[in-house]
Amino acid sequence: MIPKTMSVMRTIAPQKLGLFQEKIPEIKNNQCLIRLERWSVCGSDIKSGWDHKKNTRGYPICHELAGTIIETKSEKFNVGQRVIALPSPIDIGGLCEFMVGIPEYMAKIPNEGDLSSWVTCQPAGTVLYSCQQIGTIIGKKVLILGQGGIGLSFAAIFARSGASQIICSDPIDDRLSFSKKVGATHVINPSKASIDDAVAEITDGSMADIVIEAAGYEQTLNDAFRLVKQYGKVIIFGMVRDGNNPSTLTSIATHYLLQNCPTIIPTVGGRSADPIAHIQAMVDLKERGWWDPGELITHQLPFSKAQQAYEMYASRKNGVVKIVLHDD
Ligand SMILES: [Zn+2]
Repeated sequence: MIPKTMSVMRTIAPQKLGLFQEKIPEIKNNQCLIRLERWSVCGSDIKSGWDHKKNTRGYPICHELAGTIIETKSEKFNVGQRVIALPSPIDIGGLCEFMVGIPEYMAKIPNEGDLSSWVTCQPAGTVLYSCQQIGTIIGKKVLILGQGGIGLSFAAIFARSGASQIICSDPIDDRLSFSKKVGATHVINPSKASIDDAVAEITDGSMADIVIEAAGYEQTLNDAFRLVKQYGKVIIFGMVRDGNNPSTLTSIATHYLLQNCPTIIPTVGGRSADPIAHIQAMVDLKERGWWDPGELITHQLPFSKAQQAYEMYASRKNGVVKIVLHDD
């Protein structure tokens, strides 16, 4: 039996989730109804949604979602199929118990295996998409700025793609231990040592062929342009943005650009022509045993403790990397 109403959470004030009871949506032709069972907390929620200004209806939050189809009007998806689903652009966000699934926004998950691990294929899939835009990684010296869930995913994927050096930088030592676990060849804590000197020494003075900005700060964006070798590549993944002020401008030291002339590649999987293909590809690679992004999960909490989960994630304390919420 499908209940009539469900719990929905959205941000109602900076860093405050509000709980709403809302009608369970009806599905139209070609759609499915999904009972959500896992929700994973994402840095982009913290950057763009968590600080969102007061809004009585609430600001939608959460897009890393997995669950089971309980009703279908789609020929491609049967009842009982487990899926990763992206909220549609007109949706209420993903921090809710039931969601309308649209085939173009759903990836099939195998019946076996822990759903918490599977849901992490959503963020890892967006990193896979980013890596697909870089060109060859084999034999390259790569520097990754930021070792949250995204930066660590880059490290794990590069380790499996033949990078010659995987240099990871983060001011939190716990995260650097994690970096080594997933495949970093070198780690740097920029709050303890000069990152410029460290990268020069590790790369024998050549600097990095590829720099990934996965931290989302003005300073790390400038670091990327400065630490890349001449004619190297800078991949922008992190969001440099103040949630309350999306039009804030970012300062860039343009002399780094003119000195190093990098190719700059901003990547956003969700804005690609097919926003689900790279997530399905990550699911298939995990199934094959290539890499399990579930190893990045450090904490799991029930859905009803979402407020606490978001606070823990934003604090970056107690070794937190990836938090997955499960149904109560
Ligand atoms: Zn995300």
